[in-house]
Amino acid sequence: MAFTTRFAPSPTGYLHLGHAFSALFAAEAAGGGRFLLRIEDIDPARCRPAFTAAILEDLAWLGLTWAGEVREQSAHFAEYRAVLMALLARGLVYPCFCSRATIAREIAAAAVAPHAPDGAPLYPGTCRGLDAATRHARIAAGEPHAWRLDMARALGALDGPLGYEERGVGLVRCDPAGFGDVVLGRKDVPASYHLAVTHDDALQGVTLVTRGEDLRPATDLHRLLQALMGWPTPAYAHHPLLRDAAGRRLAKRDGVASLRSLRARGLTPAEVRRLARPTPAP
Ligand code: GLU
Repeated sequence: MAFTTRFAPSPTGYLHLGHAFSALFAAEAAGGGRFLLRIEDIDPARCRPAFTAAILEDLAWLGLTWAGEVREQSAHFAEYRAVLMALLARGLVYPCFCSRATIAREIAAAAVAPHAPDGAPLYPGTCRGLDAATRHARIAAGEPHAWRLDMARALGALDGPLGYEERGVGLVRCDPAGFGDVVLGRKDVPASYHLAVTHDDALQGVTLVTRGEDLRPATDLHRLLQALMGWPTPAYAHHPLLRDAAGRRLAKRDGVASLRSLRARGLTPAEVRRLARPTPAP
């Protein structure tokens, strides 16, 4: 079956074998449909244009071609802000003025400190109850603020259960409640990974989202955002992560060999493609 798929790396370093596997997986999963490339560079502190250029070059060297223009998220903040404002108009997001330190202090003082499915500590809800006048006054005074989803209200706005089709598995039911009042718009930029990824998948007509299984928990939240915004439900294929000989997942921070260093050592694209496969379980 033909799908529109995408590879959506963040330009925070050079691509390694894990990325090559993910990109090849997405291109193959398109099944003759459209394979898109999107650069997820909303984080100004960690993303570098030089890494974006290197990603394009490395993927082309591997022999991958993508349909249409490469979408760079940092050029589209106005679109993400518009989504935040649409959710605000429906009372589904609220401004949060808390600093990381305040949140950490409140969590430390709490008797129980639950965590979201992605491991992040749950926001204790400090700013949820601020009245409209206080919110306006603090925003008007220029106080930095993030935008948080009001999870209880968001769940109340749904008109049915959430689920998605996982390829090869079938229907998976979603339960996003455990994410709590997650940040949808950061303090520094009016977007978050969750908001930008769901917005762009809808805008770009992605019909099959392929990505590592580490992002599987986030899919429950993404289905909630899609339902709230009336965006279509893509199918999903969460793939295993490439691991090193010791069974650890490959990560840039561990100095995993980049595609360009393998290339500099004289490996051919065909050899790198062969290496970019999960090792079968012993
Ligand atoms: N940008 C994300 C990453 O670099 C991937 C996003 C996705 O595929 O949903 O891990």
